[in-house]
Amino acid sequence: MINVKSSPTLTGLSDLTLTKMFGTNGVRGVINENLTVELVLKLSRATGSVFGPGMVAIARDSRKGGEMFTHALISGLTSTGCSVVNLGPVPVPALQYMVPRLGCIAGVMVTASHNPPQFNGIKVIGSNGIETSRETENQIEMVYQSNQFKTADWDKIGEVTHNDSAIDVYIEGIKSQLNVEKIRTKNLKVIVDCANSVGGLVTPRLLRELGCTVVSLNAQLDGSFPGRNPEPIPENLKALAAAVRVTGADLGIAHDGDADRATFVDETGRVLWGDQSFALIASRILARKRGSTLVTPVSSGRVIEDVARKAGAKIDWTEVGSVDVSHRIAEIGAELGGEENGGVFYPAHQPVRDGAMTATQVVEMIALEGKTLSQLVSELPVYFNTKVKVPVPQEKKEPLLKALLELTKDMNRITLDGVKIIHEEGWYLIRPSGTEPIYRCFAEGATQEIADRLSEEGVKLIECAKELV
Ligand code: MG
Repeated sequence: MINVKSSPTLTGLSDLTLTKMFGTNGVRGVINENLTVELVLKLSRATGSVFGPGMVAIARDSRKGGEMFTHALISGLTSTGCSVVNLGPVPVPALQYMVPRLGCIAGVMVTASHNPPQFNGIKVIGSNGIETSRETENQIEMVYQSNQFKTADWDKIGEVTHNDSAIDVYIEGIKSQLNVEKIRTKNLKVIVDCANSVGGLVTPRLLRELGCTVVSLNAQLDGSFPGRNPEPIPENLKALAAAVRVTGADLGIAHDGDADRATFVDETGRVLWGDQSFALIASRILARKRGSTLVTPVSSGRVIEDVARKAGAKIDWTEVGSVDVSHRIAEIGAELGGEENGGVFYPAHQPVRDGAMTATQVVEMIALEGKTLSQLVSELPVYFNTKVKVPVPQEKKEPLLKALLELTKDMNRITLDGVKIIHEEGWYLIRPSGTEPIYRCFAEGATQEIADRLSEEGVKLIECAKELV
């Protein structure tokens, strides 16, 4: 299968304070260049002003500057009267799991997920454990820009405590969702590539508690990421794929920097695409109850639709972005969510992307179904993709979208995020890039020829729209 996947964009190197601070997934920047201690201090004063008073849980991944920014966070939050409970280095889904369980009003994670090592960032989480809504981000930014911070009286400054139980509580929470006894009988052999970050504190231990024989790669915390780039995509997982092959392991698992995603390698050493592992998990979860609902962004492909249809489930489409998926799951009480990059949201555990939960769901499937991972994947339909970029000047991006909406108004389409045109034989999605002066066209079809043809149709539409603006 030829399958080109997009990676989420980085926050650019512009002055973060002059542009919108929050990107697709929090505030990100280069450490001590445009993500400075001063910025994080002010951002945490703004966050405390919007959420407080109350207790805020904080955590970090293994990135450089994690400790430095944690101190700025503590100073800013406590100055507004919020108390802080510091969970230390843990995966972002472990922090998200703890926020409601500790009765916190918010959580803040110091992380830049899968970005290169020079980046770090701040992710703000609401009292329900879900990343804050776009509206709350805007409120925080308004306080930041206007300097209208709450300042506590001298005797109302927040307290600081530490809590080392997050990983124990989180691991028990995941195990409570699994058939632990059955998995234990299989003694699966698993190689885990921890990306030199916080996934290494959870997944190898969790799998051992499930009776697996575990070999860990890149398990030491190191913010220079000496083992590999923290984005779990095929070109970064060659060592893991080779390790699975030569050791005869049942599967390989790779996390990103904050361990909210898991990528899988089958027993032959082939790296799976995120939509394949997502589809496998969906096929099991949705089959448990007819009429379930699956929440997924418009960028997800036909394999997900096929699996949902077979299980008698409904699909609820969202904009592209994990925050939108989480909020929609919570709003409608869906049974599952997922993204084509391998993010899986299992609300019976928690309605957010969770790398360790995803990892153990696939392990459980192999144990319970008695099939190898490659056999399970071979039962899924195969589709082909084409991805093209079309240059569009920054100032024309918005008028171009309006022209596209007009041009396609009589077509079978979804307009939640860009324009998705649906044909019998496939589909294509046209979206402006968040940061670059381009439009992306992503097409999918049952053959490569169909995907290429649909992609050409999408590019022609963009060119037509360009002439109108
Ligand atoms: Mg991540």
